[in-house]
Amino acid sequence: MKMRFSELLVFLILFAALPCAAETLDLSALGDIQDAQMIEVSEPVSEREWTYPISYELLKTSEYIVLANKNNLLDENYIPSDLTKDLDCRKISYDPIQMREIAANALYELFDAAAEDGLYLYAHSGYRSYQTQNTMYYNRLKKNKGVDDGYVAYPGSSDHQTGLGIDVINKAGIGKKFTKAFGETKHGQWLAENCWDYGFIIRYQADKEEITEIEYEPWHLRYVGVQVAQYMRDNHLSLEEFTEEWKEAVAQYEAAGI
Ligand SMILES: [Zn+2]
Repeated sequence: MKMRFSELLVFLILFAALPCAAETLDLSALGDIQDAQMIEVSEPVSEREWTYPISYELLKTSEYIVLANKNNLLDENYIPSDLTKDLDCRKISYDPIQMREIAANALYELFDAAAEDGLYLYAHSGYRSYQTQNTMYYNRLKKNKGVDDGYVAYPGSSDHQTGLGIDVINKAGIGKKFTKAFGETKHGQWLAENCWDYGFIIRYQADKEEITEIEYEPWHLRYVGVQVAQYMRDNHLSLEEFTEEWKEAVAQYEAAGI
């Protein structure tokens, strides 16, 4: 068992201040304590080691792993700086669809790969401003007699405000309400299988509803970067779980340093 440096200090002070009390100590315990001191000396606390599979630098600097949900609201003034004017791919929307540049480029690659497999995907809804979300939320509330039924995300909690989220559908889904049945289609299955290799995750998975507090949305992709997406796939993590995990790794690492 390792002793923390602070614990060791307290112990040494106590030990030095109470020489008489040492007589009453069990000698075998004293042996353990001396061993502990030796171990501490041979393993300086400054030699901390990063063992988490994703680099410390990426986790501390990536803008693409941002978490937006009810407990982590984005600022009402948050607007990504590098939004595209409009997506340059197959899409279903009268309005321009915006995404952060890196996510847009990844989406083009994803759509191209799907097309090579004979599957045509359509972008539907990308970046949504705080104000748009706010209007949508309060309109829904009004329609629903003031009750939040979870259908429209609370302002600041929408993944769409990150500029990294995108709703994707197939031709059969055009003009229809998005449903979970999309996950059963060839297109939905292809996305669930392949999106990770292009840096996207299925943000709201069927068996993570209790954690995300959002119902399964097989059409909602979220860009996080290839390495993180593949790691999340391999470990079957929601963005909430991944965030908790990496923050814990960073906190432990930083607490171990001097
Ligand atoms: Zn969505």
